[in-house]
Amino acid sequence: MALIVQKYGGTSMGTPERILNVSRRVKRWHDHGHQVVVVVSAMSGETNRLIGLAKAISETPDPRELDQMLATGEQVTIAMLAMSLKSIGLNAKSYTGGQVVIRTDSSFNKARIQSIDESAVRKDLDAGSVVIVAGFQGIDDDGNVTTLGRGGSDTTGVAMAAALKADECQIYTDVDGVYTTDPRVAPKAKKLDRITFEEMLEMASLGSKVLQIRSVEFAGKYQVPLRVLSSFDNENDGAYDDDFKHNVGTLITTESETTMEQPIISGIAFNRDEAKLIVRGVPDQPGIASRILSPVGDANIEIDMIVQNVAADGTTDFTFTVNRSDYKKTLDLMQQIGRDVGAREVTGDDTIVKVSIVGVGMRSHAGVASQMFRTLGAEGINIQMISTSEIKISVVVNEKYLELAVRALHTAFELDRVTGESRAQA
Ligand code: ADP
Ligand code: ASP
Ligand code: MG
Repeated sequence: MALIVQKYGGTSMGTPERILNVSRRVKRWHDHGHQVVVVVSAMSGETNRLIGLAKAISETPDPRELDQMLATGEQVTIAMLAMSLKSIGLNAKSYTGGQVVIRTDSSFNKARIQSIDESAVRKDLDAGSVVIVAGFQGIDDDGNVTTLGRGGSDTTGVAMAAALKADECQIYTDVDGVYTTDPRVAPKAKKLDRITFEEMLEMASLGSKVLQIRSVEFAGKYQVPLRVLSSFDNENDGAYDDDFKHNVGTLITTESETTMEQPIISGIAFNRDEAKLIVRGVPDQPGIASRILSPVGDANIEIDMIVQNVAADGTTDFTFTVNRSDYKKTLDLMQQIGRDVGAREVTGDDTIVKVSIVGVGMRSHAGVASQMFRTLGAEGINIQMISTSEIKISVVVNEKYLELAVRALHTAFELDRVTGESRAQA
């Protein structure tokens, strides 16, 4: 008998029929004698609908009240799933984040989980119930409802699994695993049977939305066995045996478990939510980077890539990227700062994207960057910015080249030919 935490995303919970389908899978696992905790998202589109309503009242809704509102999406689906499970003969009980208790800090809209009191959940499980927990939400020390940032139900799933020391956290979604890149952008993307935590963390932080980055961090830190799999495929019968463990979905593993020879590149990630700011002709003096960039941080705007050009005539240029939703605000701020520091010109571009190649195999291979640049060059794609780390290379290009860049790199790094099986036997 195992303790399994299953998380179902918005599409999987999108209609009453799909919720019934989820119930049937939960029942198969329960019938096999496993204890099951289910973490759910709001129905697909619901969180966006609620944000739209809030914005119709105010362009910048009060963060506390926004969380109060957004948390309702998941409160609906926990109850629907509990009703559905009861209708097919299971004992089930739903919990909001506050009822569990999932304690978070007070950073509304992007709260972090601090602790979980799993005792009530454990009691229900021991009494034979299925427990359903609302994803994406918690409660702070003052009793305020908080939410964990978009995609946060993944993190609730992993955190519940960590608190309960579950045998596995299963993330059920609308694709059957983690692919070499988003299969909606590159039809030749291949499913991976395994990916390391390190690579998954990079993929998530560089824009692959299949797992929220904090869920991967959490799973790595607390050693939670984490698997991504399809909620639409009904093949598995709830047996948590070797066949399941080796063959279903994508397992996120530690590097040492993957003894197969690593391909150089495991995946390609991209982020469409990018914008670029350029401050030209500022005096090349100590402290200038801080004078330009500190106000951005002070305005709570996150900076991603930064490039400072070599000074020629005693002046220098700064280019940096921010989230596209912060573009207008950052441009206004830069125009003011540009005047203060005597910049020649401030411009920006919100039609850029970031494309990244990721792989732990890069560590031991030279020439990966040059192959990437050659491939993009051959397609006539101009590279605007570059940043690298040990296991990733990112470039900024015009958004019209996104699909072309991803597909060309996918082919160039031989990912079209990856087969799940070749990476499966560890
Ligand atoms: P859920 O509602 O279940 O949380 P999400 O939309 O958040 O689902 O995440 C699943 C989506 O992530 C897929 O439909 C896919 O388009 C996208 N995705 C991006 N990169 C990848 C990748 N490397 N592998 C699989 N899916 C990816
Ligand atoms: N419903 C929330 C969102 O859309 C949380 C989630 O689905 O993970 O971001
Ligand atoms: Mg998601």
